[in-house]
Amino acid sequence: MSGSSIIVAVNALLTFRGDIIVDASGWRAALGGQIRPDLVRRDRLNFGMETTVAYRDQGLHFSYDPRGLLPMGITWAFPIGEFSRIGIGSYRGDTRLGRRLDRFLVDLELRRDGVHGGYFPHALRDPLVGDLFLVGDAAGQCLGLTGESIRPALFFGTHLGRLLRRALEGKISLTAAREAYRRLVAARKPGYDLLCLAQRVLPRLPLSLVQGVMALINKPAVLRRVLALYVRAFWLAVEDVRTATQGGSLIPAPIAAMNQGEESPAKDDVSAEERLRVSH
Ligand SMILES: Cc1cc2nc3c(=O)[nH]c(=O)nc-3n(C[C@H](O)[C@H](O)[C@H](O)COP(=O)(O)OP(=O)(O)OC[C@H]3O[C@@H](n4cnc5c(N)ncnc54)[C@H](O)[C@@H]3O)c2cc1C
Repeated sequence: MSGSSIIVAVNALLTFRGDIIVDASGWRAALGGQIRPDLVRRDRLNFGMETTVAYRDQGLHFSYDPRGLLPMGITWAFPIGEFSRIGIGSYRGDTRLGRRLDRFLVDLELRRDGVHGGYFPHALRDPLVGDLFLVGDAAGQCLGLTGESIRPALFFGTHLGRLLRRALEGKISLTAAREAYRRLVAARKPGYDLLCLAQRVLPRLPLSLVQGVMALINKPAVLRRVLALYVRAFWLAVEDVRTATQGGSLIPAPIAAMNQGEESPAKDDVSAEERLRVSH
C-alpha cells in the first residue's frame, strides 16, 4: 500500500492504482494504518456499546456517574420516536461494559434488547499519510467527550469530495487540494483538542467540581451558547464564504483564496474512473 496504489489479495493479487485514494474505513484506518502502523493508537480510542429499547423521551441525555457506574465514561439516551438508543461509553477504551449497561438500564426499568458497539477515536490524526487522504474516523475526526462522529465525517467528507472534484476537473492542482484539506482540518484542531482535553480532565476532577461545571452549563442562557458554538463550529467559516463569494462555494474563505492563487491545470483531462488501473 502506498498513497496511490493498493494491493489487495482476493483469490488473486490485485493492484488498484489511482492518483487519488481516500481512506474512509473507520477507526481502523485500513489503508493509512498499513502505511503508518502507529497511526491507530489504542490509547486514543474510546469504546461504546448501546441497545435500542422501547423508551420514549425528549432531547439527548448524557449522564455521568463515576462512583456508581463508570469512573471514566458516560451513559446516554438518544430518543428515536417510540424507541431510544441507550448506551455506555468508556473514555479509556474499556470494552467490558455490558454489565454496567445492564445496571444503567435497570435504573430506567428497562432491559437490553440486543447490543452493538465499537471503538471511536477521540484525537485527530493526520488527515494525509503520504499521498493518501483520510476522512471520518480513519482521520480521528470523531469529537472527544461527546463521541459525535457522523456529522464530522459528513462535513469533512463533503469538503474533501469537493476539493478532489476540483482537482479532477483541473481547477486546482492535487497539491493545492492536499494543502487545502490540511488547512480545513487544522483550522478545527483547537476545538478537537479542547474536547479531547475535556474528556481527559473532567473525570479526574472532584465530583463536586464537575457538578458545578455541569450546573453552570445547564443554565438555559449558557446552554444555548455552548450548544450553538458546538453545533455551528464546523460551519462558521463556510457561512462566511457563502456571503464572501458569489459562486456559492462551500470551501472556507482561506481555502478558496488559496485555491484562486494556486490554480493550475491538471496533468490531463482523464476522468477518475479512467485513472483507476486494475492489474493482475
Ligand atoms: C455504540 C456507538 C454509538 C454511537 N453513536 C453515535 C451517535 O449517536 N452519533 C454520532 O455522530 N456518532 C456515533 N457513534 C460514532 C459513529 O458511529 C462512528 O464514529 C461513525 O460511524 C464514523 O463514520 P466513518 O464513516 O468514519 O466510519 P464507519 O461508519 O466505521 O464506516 C467505515 C466503513 O468502511 C468499511 N471498511 C472498513 N474496513 C474496510 C476494508 N478493509 N475494506 C473495505 N471496507 C472497509 C466498513 O465496513 C464501514 O462501512 C457511535 C459509535 C458507537 C460505537
